[in-house]
Amino acid sequence: MRPIKACINLSALTFNLQSIKKIAKNSKVMAVLKANAYGHGLIESVKAIKNVEGIAILTIEEAFKIRKAGYKNTILLLEGLFAAEEIYQAEKLNLNITLHNDRQIEFLDNVVLKNPVSVHLKINTGMNRLGFPPDQIDYLIENLNANPNVSDITLMTHFASADEKEGITKQLDCFNRITDNYNLSSSVANSAALYKFPESRLDWVRPGIMLYGASPFEDISAKKLDVKPVMSLVSEIIALQDLKTGQAVGYGNNFIAKKDMRIGIVACGYGDGYPRHAKTGTPILVDQKKTTTIGRVSMDMLYVDLSNNPNADIGSEVEMWGNNIPVDDVAKNSGTVGYELLCNVTASTRVPLEYEDG
Ligand SMILES: *Cc1c(COP(=O)(O)O)cnc(C)c1O
Repeated sequence: MRPIKACINLSALTFNLQSIKKIAKNSKVMAVLKANAYGHGLIESVKAIKNVEGIAILTIEEAFKIRKAGYKNTILLLEGLFAAEEIYQAEKLNLNITLHNDRQIEFLDNVVLKNPVSVHLKINTGMNRLGFPPDQIDYLIENLNANPNVSDITLMTHFASADEKEGITKQLDCFNRITDNYNLSSSVANSAALYKFPESRLDWVRPGIMLYGASPFEDISAKKLDVKPVMSLVSEIIALQDLKTGQAVGYGNNFIAKKDMRIGIVACGYGDGYPRHAKTGTPILVDQKKTTTIGRVSMDMLYVDLSNNPNADIGSEVEMWGNNIPVDDVAKNSGTVGYELLCNVTASTRVPLEYEDG
């Protein structure tokens, strides 16, 4: 078997939820488990945080699996229903559905449900992705209140720049101007907002990335946020090469040795979810020692500098990211974010997830 695997430390996930709860204080936590729990495995992740007040995902299929695993609290469909007939499954599974467009309102108007459903009414406060414009909300709430298929309403929005300098002020002001007129539950904060802006910790908070021990911020590390990495992507060295000064490595001769040096070939490439755009100099761990990648990442392999690792050999353990190499550092060297790297491991069918603890 190829030596690559993603080790998932479920006790770190449990720990991270507790860390987030401390920050969130009195807000209820809705754990965001979309994209197969950001690549960590949906059902295993649910089990590691089974007492959390809510779980947010995208599809009825995911919700079905979560209920089947015995989870009884709130489940929110973040994009709501995609087709009219899904309303019956949502009713049966007791799901909370996001309402963000007119068609979804029609779905609700055109049925007679035995058990009314809870809805999250999404307001577009400036991100311009999902949600109704602020000036339609009064009208919509009035209609939803009169709809026998609706049991209760939560008001919701999503921030575009909670992790950036711009912050959330404009969007949160817009949200509060509308919601101050109602005595309804509300939900606005992603990881970045809940950490940085106490005023965004309303009835619910919706952390995703922090649960998995990565940071939503460019300039604040996961360690500083008091969360631990849940996923370690590990593999082994499968070949060594001794380069002479001037010799090149890999596709495009992207790296040229400035001195005689030993390099290692690692069984991990972009076909496994490692970013192809990782630059020479991206941190990586070989036999518990930090070194860097060199050259261009291939589909199945990448190259590491072994100049300071004379004992490294075929079979030496390599950590691409995990407890020693923050996924955020690899992301920064690759022009992307930790979110994408974690999700991409699942997209690859070549990396088995191996669970520890839990
Ligand atoms: C993905 C998502 C979140 C979680 O965001 P993080 O930055 O991972 O904390 C919260 N709310 C909505 C609507 C989302 O789509």
